[in-house]
Amino acid sequence: MDRKEYQRLYRLKNKEKAKEYAREYHLKNKEKVKEYHKSEKRMEKYKEWYESPKGHKSRTLSRWRTWGVIGDLDAIYDIYLATNECMRCSVPIEGLNKHMDHDHDTGLYRAVLCNSCNCGNIWDKPPHGDNKSTGIRYISKRKNRYGYRFQKTTKKITHSKSFLTLEEAIDYKDEYLNRMSRPPSS
Ligand SMILES: [Zn+2]
Repeated sequence: MDRKEYQRLYRLKNKEKAKEYAREYHLKNKEKVKEYHKSEKRMEKYKEWYESPKGHKSRTLSRWRTWGVIGDLDAIYDIYLATNECMRCSVPIEGLNKHMDHDHDTGLYRAVLCNSCNCGNIWDKPPHGDNKSTGIRYISKRKNRYGYRFQKTTKKITHSKSFLTLEEAIDYKDEYLNRMSRPPSS
């Protein structure tokens, strides 16, 4: 066992004692500590941590905490890491195009989504009550050459489909809105 490993284990075993020691050391060596924090050695160490998987996880979880996300963040992070397809539209996602979506009211995790799905998130804005009198909300009123067209745009993503009869279009619309207004079962 090398010295560093020994020190690590010792600190783990004697957490309180180690804390007290660190506090005393800081008080006694204020200048030295200040210098170290400005030093290149420390910057390098910080950079190393920042770019490591451990650093990424730590920063991500702390961001989630500030958003008010609750629950088993470790487990959510594992799902987040393992997901490389948007859970709603199935496009490949990575880096800045990967979002952990959570319910802003309850703070509970919902899904891992791509940019567009997360921005125009209809889970946050449940579809307006159907136009009950006509039942044709989101459906073109007049028949065009393809039939009756259902169309709904959620932040730049347009979904449309045409049907021969109005009834079919309404059925499809109901099914579509119903499907989109509930989070995927995972
Ligand atoms: Zn998506």
